Amino acid sequence: MGPDVLDATLTVEEVRERLLSARFRRRQFSGLLLDQAFLAGLGNYLRVEILWHAGLLASHRAQDLSEEQLNALSAAMLAVPRLSYQMRGSMKKYHEEAAFRFEVFHRQGKKCRRCGAVIEKGVLSSRPFYWCPGCQN
Ligand SMILES: [Zn+2]
Repeated sequence: MGPDVLDATLTVEEVRERLLSARFRRRQFSGLLLDQAFLAGLGNYLRVEILWHAGLLASHRAQDLSEEQLNALSAAMLAVPRLSYQMRGSMKKYHEEAAFRFEVFHRQGKKCRRCGAVIEKGVLSSRPFYWCPGCQN
């Protein structure tokens, strides 16, 4: 098992180092983000949301990314699950608008809130996959 994304002591820098390690840098994100040996606690909906936030495709591999892309992805890998977890715990207390908002998950056919393109749905690593063809590239 890899480090848990909800472990508050796990840092963006550590995630970045893990992405670039010899073991993981050549793996496509479609499978890597679901591999509990890489990071524990990332389910399928977090996989698609993280890639949307980082503006990346599931076919990308860490070794092919720019510094900027690596930093964006490392940050999203911690920020998205942590926000989701916090919101799950607070759903009863707050108005629905405060709840975690999916950007691509289960939003196929709807417009991307970042670029206006239509969200698509497919299957990757035997799981449903959602992405925006306009701003994930
Ligand atoms: Zn978009």
